[in-house]
Amino acid sequence: MANKIKELLQSGTVGTHVEIKGWIRTKRVSKQVVFLSINDGSCQGNLQAVIDPSQISEELLTELGTGASIAISGNLVTSQGQAQSIELQATELTLLGSAPDYPIQPKAHSLEFLREWSHLRFRTNTFGAVFRIRHAVSYAIHNFFHQRGFFYLHTPIITAADAEGAGEMFRVTNLDLLNLPKNPDGSVNYKEDFFKTSTNLTVSGQLAAEAAAMGLGSVYTFGPTFRAENSNTARHLAEFWMVEPEVAFNELQDNITLAEDFLKFLLEYVLKNCQEELTYLQQRSLHKTDTKQQMPLLERLNFVLEQPFARVSYTEAIAILMDAPPNKNGTFAYPITHWGIDLQSEHERYLVEHHFKKPVVVINYPREIKAFYMRQNDDGNTVAAMDVLFPGVGEIIGGSQREERMDYLIEAMQRINVPLEDLNWYLDTRRFGTIPHSGFGLGFERLILFVTGMENIRDVIPFPRTPGHVAC
Ligand code: ATP
Ligand code: MN
Repeated sequence: MANKIKELLQSGTVGTHVEIKGWIRTKRVSKQVVFLSINDGSCQGNLQAVIDPSQISEELLTELGTGASIAISGNLVTSQGQAQSIELQATELTLLGSAPDYPIQPKAHSLEFLREWSHLRFRTNTFGAVFRIRHAVSYAIHNFFHQRGFFYLHTPIITAADAEGAGEMFRVTNLDLLNLPKNPDGSVNYKEDFFKTSTNLTVSGQLAAEAAAMGLGSVYTFGPTFRAENSNTARHLAEFWMVEPEVAFNELQDNITLAEDFLKFLLEYVLKNCQEELTYLQQRSLHKTDTKQQMPLLERLNFVLEQPFARVSYTEAIAILMDAPPNKNGTFAYPITHWGIDLQSEHERYLVEHHFKKPVVVINYPREIKAFYMRQNDDGNTVAAMDVLFPGVGEIIGGSQREERMDYLIEAMQRINVPLEDLNWYLDTRRFGTIPHSGFGLGFERLILFVTGMENIRDVIPFPRTPGHVAC
């Protein structure tokens, strides 16, 4: 098996014979020598291979271009160049796949351009860094929960509930769309459908996780969720991944503490284990003029790690926003006019970036703008909700203490016309041994946006799905 470039760059011994396989990033040719810079995806760095041009044909030399795949073996030697300490003195070279007209040439391409080539962008420095970090964060998530005695729960992707309350859903059916079975009143007869009822893709694993937590104690989901919301923003995808812990006997404050510990654990893990990637991404963003006023990436991550998050009630947040200069001088696109309105991302970012200057947890939202399952507070107007807001991203986590009291829950469902019979199984969890419990949903890609300093959510998921786009 070939050696991984990561290991060679870290601990390769000069004088040893090695073989590497990878893709050519760049080629430099002179009369005496050919330099190939090779990356195999294992790390940010490339290994330089040095080839004697008299040993290979003119034709092969032409084919050894950017994007081509090769296997090279030879001796590790001390490099003469400044850029690297070791290089590979090639003795044997096999071209695996040539790449004429490879679209990603070694120059700065825009992220928009690379999105058109999402199947090839894994071979760039930027996306190599993003996806290695994405892996590291996934690993750290499982690690965090495992250490704390949580069980990983696989909740269904197909759901019969169409009132999970988190957004527009995608229908799942195998009915013939050109020949739909109809009821006498003209509506579609879903009794003829695969599940004998109408079904959708899930928008959240929460309701199932609640049931599991009330038996297993502490669980978490980490899976794909789907929302047919037509929001063409830099922070919304139609298919995204969500992490949803749910904990028996936790109250709202425990839930906030869990969220803060969790996020900090992940940041610490990445800072410790993804230095090369973070340094690369930081360099990359420093070249851009529009982010000049921001802290550099590593500083930003450390800053969030060191600060206790601010905790503020929705009511206090509204008071701050009402008085905020952008509200008074009309620069908010959605002015804050009264208690009860939902916070937009511009408001969330004002609280985080201008007012508190650190992550903010907003709690106790008006019940009218939150989901039916959130626990009603004693004031009767608010629910025990918590949103965690991050710099640059806005809402990264949404969670709550759940309503464990049957009569309150039924009243909340009836108020928004959720058919009780559809969620009878969910009501059983309150009928039989109900308990206080809490949980939250972390938008995984929103976290990756923050950690990588990328600005568009389409650039932190391998193959983004957004309205009108489902390439690959
Ligand atoms: P937003 O107001 O930003 O649309 P939401 O209130 O709909 O978010 P929740 O239903 O609370 O979000 O979902 C939990 C988390 O999932 C959010 O805090 C966010 O991080 C993430 N999230 C929600 N919708 C999307 C989406 N369309 N694409 C990517 N992440 C999302
Ligand atoms: Mn939403």
